[in-house]
Amino acid sequence: MQFLAGVGPARAKLLAKLKLATVGDLLLHYPRAHEDRHLSQRGAWGAPGSAVAVEGEIQDFQVSGGGKDLLFGRAVLATGSKSVEAVWFRRRSFRYDPFETLKKKFIPGVKLFVYGPWQFGPRGPEIRVEDHELVTDEASPHRNRWVPVYDLTEGVDGRWLRGLVWSVRGAVGGVSDPLPESVRTEHGLVPLARALEDFHFPTDLAARDRARRRLAFDEFFTLETAMARVRRERHAGPPAPSCRPTKQLLSPFRQAMGFDFTGAQKRVIIEIFEDMGSTRPMNRLLMGEVGSGKTVVAVSALLLAVESGRQAALMAPTEILAEQHVRRLERLLEGLPVRWMLLTGGRKSAESRRQREALAQGEIQIAVGTHALLESQVTFKDLGLVVIDEQHRFGVDQRAVLGSKGVSPHILLMTATPIPRTLALTYYGDLSVSAIDQLPPGRPPIVSRWTSETEALSGVRRAVQEGRQAYVVFPLVEESERLDLKAVLKGWEHLKEAFPDTTVGLLHGRMKSAEKEAVMGSFARGETKILAATPVIEVGIDVANATVLVLMNAERFGLAQLHQLRGRVGRGVHASSCYVVSGSPSLDAVERIKMFCRTSDGFQLAEEDLRRRGPGEFLGSAQHGLPEFRVGNLATDGALIAEARSAAFRLIQEDPDLAQPDHRALAADVTRRYAHRLHFARVA
Ligand code: ADP
Ligand code: MG
Repeated sequence: MQFLAGVGPARAKLLAKLKLATVGDLLLHYPRAHEDRHLSQRGAWGAPGSAVAVEGEIQDFQVSGGGKDLLFGRAVLATGSKSVEAVWFRRRSFRYDPFETLKKKFIPGVKLFVYGPWQFGPRGPEIRVEDHELVTDEASPHRNRWVPVYDLTEGVDGRWLRGLVWSVRGAVGGVSDPLPESVRTEHGLVPLARALEDFHFPTDLAARDRARRRLAFDEFFTLETAMARVRRERHAGPPAPSCRPTKQLLSPFRQAMGFDFTGAQKRVIIEIFEDMGSTRPMNRLLMGEVGSGKTVVAVSALLLAVESGRQAALMAPTEILAEQHVRRLERLLEGLPVRWMLLTGGRKSAESRRQREALAQGEIQIAVGTHALLESQVTFKDLGLVVIDEQHRFGVDQRAVLGSKGVSPHILLMTATPIPRTLALTYYGDLSVSAIDQLPPGRPPIVSRWTSETEALSGVRRAVQEGRQAYVVFPLVEESERLDLKAVLKGWEHLKEAFPDTTVGLLHGRMKSAEKEAVMGSFARGETKILAATPVIEVGIDVANATVLVLMNAERFGLAQLHQLRGRVGRGVHASSCYVVSGSPSLDAVERIKMFCRTSDGFQLAEEDLRRRGPGEFLGSAQHGLPEFRVGNLATDGALIAEARSAAFRLIQEDPDLAQPDHRALAADVTRRYAHRLHFARVA
């Protein structure tokens, strides 16, 4: 691509701030919106304040004072039978005349185009001019059409940038189209050159929408091709051990479980077992609300691995959670001929060495632990399955390390954060997804209410008097960790004053992990009654006796996070309450809080959160580095995503290395954008 002609060094530097160096960059600098600058019909100007486009002959131009600092220029424009006033504001200057150029240009009789919001002035309608130009016979990017509006940077004028894009638009033909022709025609997409031109300068909205669809498809298609490659490489790698049920362990486990699986649990177990029966390594994400019963599903998968003669690992993000899992396993596996061990960073005793030895010999079948499981001294004899709880705390690299331990074990990732479907299909597109979308019967509901702080604290008091426990959560302030600490520290002091006879604990992200675990341990044992915390309590902790949750400054939380936090209560037999406290919420926050109090469906809240705040909140560390979509919209493009995905997966099936000539440009694109992020080999 050539560098931009007619752009001096100063302007080039400014453009560099927008990352625009070449003609190609300019064409890919998509407009944020389009303004309708077709001439507005009389009588169709909309309400005062609406923008209108008007063309007329200049009859008069005058400059007058408008207060201490302001000058305004007024042009009277004759438009057919009527006249309209156009107004410009300029800051007064003692050094030069801010209206000098306009005075020279605006000679009576000259035809002028103006665009801007209108209102009623003293002499009829007047337009506050945002953009104007003299009317000539030449086609213009600025008037009588849909006009693109770009993101700008200081010193780059919108009109100038638009003119620049207009002047290079002829170069669209030189941009190579990475989309294979067959895919393009099958999905009814316009050619790339057409799409680029129409997305900047559409003749009508239908053309713009066609262009948008094509460009959004490209974004999804490139990512899905990368995801298809990742999956393909995994499948082409070392095989996984096929695990088939013998029922030796699963049958007694089910009988002893004391309840029936819900329909949703049965469905996901079938999905998982089907994957594990194959020699293609499973990579499945299991989503399910807190309390939806992921543990028994995970245990079923662990037992399937063990009864088919393999070993299995269960990995949790913290020691507390790992220990919690062990306690549950103890209960769930009582009486079954299965040996398991806990493996965390701390213990290096003789006993733990013996256990590691037994694990390496295959005498111990299940290892539960933290990321200590990833250490190189930890060896398995025949690892068939790895279950990773709260997957968003782990990165892809940890998964990769684990994968290298056995042959290539099946991997089941679990998360309590419901991920909207479009996200699961894109950023998590290399994974298969199962969802437990149903809670076990007989759960006491959590009542969520928006209340005053006083009311919330009386709720806490009542709970403590009844022997229950409470969380009080203070928000994280992203911009300033120190401020965040201050909020929770102040809140903690305040709570200690309000509850002088009660133990009030403090938990925040800046504490050392041993400290955190000590605090959580004391709360879990019921010694600490009230816990003042930042959202670090979000993940996986399970204290059935905690029945009250207070969310302070709730306006600072996203919906998904609010819901995630709510999952800390309602875990036992007692009814639970969630008090939402918010002093001065914005309109958006008011809607969010109301919706949160009304709905307990995590998937619905997640979809809503995606619509309001974009995908950032849902992305784990592994996905965080992936580029965001510029045209594609995860909240509204569900159908297009599904199309792009099936096209990409089919293409990789037909031409796994994208070696065909027609696929070369795509291969280059996919590699450039995703190879370093998704850790797959360069294609073609
Ligand atoms: P999650 O890990 O998804 O938050 P758990 O697996 O901890 O949920 O399950 C929460 C509680 O529900 C546990 O006490 C578990 O024994 C119980 N449970 C799980 N499945 C069922 C079911 N189908 N019927 C009744 N209780 C269930
Ligand atoms: Mg759990």
